[in-house]
Amino acid sequence: MQKLKAKIRDIPDFPSPGIVFKDITPLVQDPLLLKECIEELIRPFKQESITAVAGMEARGFIFGSLAAWELGVGFIPLRKPGKLPYDVQRIDYALEYGTASLEAHIDAISAGDRILVIDDVLATGGTARASCELIEHLGGEVVACAFVMELGFLQGRNNLTSYPIHTLISY
Ligand code: AMP
Repeated sequence: MQKLKAKIRDIPDFPSPGIVFKDITPLVQDPLLLKECIEELIRPFKQESITAVAGMEARGFIFGSLAAWELGVGFIPLRKPGKLPYDVQRIDYALEYGTASLEAHIDAISAGDRILVIDDVLATGGTARASCELIEHLGGEVVACAFVMELGFLQGRNNLTSYPIHTLISY
């Protein structure tokens, strides 16, 4: 995973002072490494009868879509408010400062669906937890959450104790 780490670029003070942004664009520009990354993301779940992958806007769309393709299942976009055109289920959740929301189409998930949740970064875990709860509200079962990297010092896993967590890189 050192190869993967080498392709993640730190951008200090983006989008605001004190944040070190983990930029995945060098990784997604490298076709061989991107393929390896997706294979590693889905490896533990190949025999788990996953029925769909859900990914959070926006970078979860990149990794989630590719993972869905590799698993041979569909992709469910979890979007910021006002972006999805049909009827939605919405979840509001707390951020360090303020709140955020995610939406999914009400017909995106059927009862009994086994969902793998994918995003680029596990930070505080708030986004992933809200995503899992949104999926459960719609009748789906969250099999696990998979991330390219986790910012271990933020202890996001503590927010996701109900779900198996798979990450490729830890900081
Ligand atoms: P959190 O809800 O705190 O776990 O934040 C996770 C979401 O914010 C993910 O969708 C990430 O893409 C994004 N994120 C949080 N921290 C960073 C970071 N340092 N670099 C890049 N993206 C981040």
